[in-house]
Amino acid sequence: MPDRIYFDHSATTPLDPRVAFAMNLANVETFGNPSSLHSEGRQARELLERARGQVAALLGAAPAEIVLTASGTEADNLALLGVFRPGADKTSGHLITSATEHPAIIETSRFLEQNGIQVTYLPVDEHGLVDPDELEKAFRPNTRLVSIMAANNVVGTLQPVAELARITKEHGALFHTDAVQSAGKVALDVTQVPVDMVSMSAHKLHGPKGIGALYVRNGVRLHPLVFGGGQEHGLRSATENVAGIVGFGTAAQLAAADMTDEAVRLVQLRDRILAGLQEALPQAYLIGHPSKRLPGHLCLGFAGQEGESIRLLLSLDEAGVAISSGSACSAHKASEPSYVLLAMGFDPIRARGTLRVTLGRFNTTVEVDRFLQILPPAVNALRPVASYAGFVQR
Ligand code: PLP
Repeated sequence: MPDRIYFDHSATTPLDPRVAFAMNLANVETFGNPSSLHSEGRQARELLERARGQVAALLGAAPAEIVLTASGTEADNLALLGVFRPGADKTSGHLITSATEHPAIIETSRFLEQNGIQVTYLPVDEHGLVDPDELEKAFRPNTRLVSIMAANNVVGTLQPVAELARITKEHGALFHTDAVQSAGKVALDVTQVPVDMVSMSAHKLHGPKGIGALYVRNGVRLHPLVFGGGQEHGLRSATENVAGIVGFGTAAQLAAADMTDEAVRLVQLRDRILAGLQEALPQAYLIGHPSKRLPGHLCLGFAGQEGESIRLLLSLDEAGVAISSGSACSAHKASEPSYVLLAMGFDPIRARGTLRVTLGRFNTTVEVDRFLQILPPAVNALRPVASYAGFVQR
């Protein structure tokens, strides 16, 4: 599909050819089991540990603090269930999270609630931000873990992770952040920020799907979720996906190498789209925080046309542009309002109609300018939502 424009990098990113090359080499030349003692096994172990070091370096962590998982979802589950695994402790405890977390956190929190753990879902403001004062007020004597995402997948808002982590440490609890959307795009240095756990996923940074990691600060003890041969410090038994891990390591190294320059470039492209759209379409508005947002992330609404976002997505797809409406994880619930936008105070009609435009490494100004020619006529061709005014008045 040579002429297509891919603007859905928050859903997933294309594999960088350099990552594909490293994975291919690992697959073809290194088939040993990293737990085997012979040369083939030791060669696989060596590749795996080098890749672990590359992933660790993205956060300024020690390699031994990285637990490799099969996804960002699994890393999130390990962070929460690893602290609160039902049946593993006599005490129950209290978890603080936010109303706009990814389902990997929200659904795990609900499961914990059903198993006797108390959970507080912190509210967010109209930009999607958690208020540090609200966190301060939410602590209870039995609060054991706070989990607040670094960047939201739907609206792109960046949370004040450093401040939230510092408050949490003052209360003696553990702090976890889901950095699946921000890792490799926005710096997070665990030597400076007192986070205890960080979730990441390779396929959001031009690496392969099906590989994630949980950073676990030295000294933090978790219950395992997967039992078996004791790989990954006993926290995640299974023969390791060596080629996938090598892909993650390479992707992490590439992202770290030019994170600052790439962020500047993506902000320029993002702002060019926003300025162009606001000029062409007076009904276009930005959703999420105007400046505290992921570099390549735009979440847009079109006043009066919110119910038409799926039609818009499909007509853009026909015109050769891949974008998403809300998050990929909720595509099967596309007609339902987004719980993230509802939490931000949007009414149910406005909460259904978002367009998410997310940029990545291979996007260019030429593509942005082509998009700016394609989108305005596509939006203008939509019907206004007849019931919108009526809905608001009722
Ligand atoms: N957390 C966030 C914020 C995400 O955006 C995603 C994926 O969209 C995940 C977790 C899950 O990651 P994975 O797709 O690797 O399971």
